[in-house]
Amino acid sequence: MKKFSCILKKDAFLTMVLASVEIYKKEAIGYLIGYKTNKLFIVEHAIPFQTAKRGFVWAEIPEKRLERVKELAERFNTYFEIIGDFHSHTQLGSSAGLPEPSGEDIASMERNKVYLILAINECGEECVKWHNTKNLTLKGSIKGYVIEIGAFRLLKEYKFVKIPVYASFATGI
Ligand SMILES: [Zn+2]
Repeated sequence: MKKFSCILKKDAFLTMVLASVEIYKKEAIGYLIGYKTNKLFIVEHAIPFQTAKRGFVWAEIPEKRLERVKELAERFNTYFEIIGDFHSHTQLGSSAGLPEPSGEDIASMERNKVYLILAINECGEECVKWHNTKNLTLKGSIKGYVIEIGAFRLLKEYKFVKIPVYASFATGI
């Protein structure tokens, strides 16, 4: 089995992190635009849906908006396409948001796509430098929040794997 990984380019990384912080109490969601090789998902851009409300389901995205995202993807570069999506998991009361897919998340996964989950929690004064964790995630803090990003892909129905996610822009590696 080929080992996949996911590379986040600067624009995609910043867009996702800022969207998650901006609507912290709600769930940030959006599409990932980029390209795929036989081992890598390269995420160049992220297109958030700012109007997303808590408990938002993907089916609620109007067809017209989806068409616009596809158009945008083509305009960026003819090789770019929608390669997956992202959403945030936020802190609910005392239970922390976790970078793991829910049953619903798994049920909506398709093969050959990458799914990013940004767990966002309040961290107060404590500041974490962006780094890759042993858990294959990318973790760091911004504006009083700590964010941990996990990347997943579907192997077969209901069977997913976590893949390493890198953002050299943030970690300086
Ligand atoms: Zn989720």
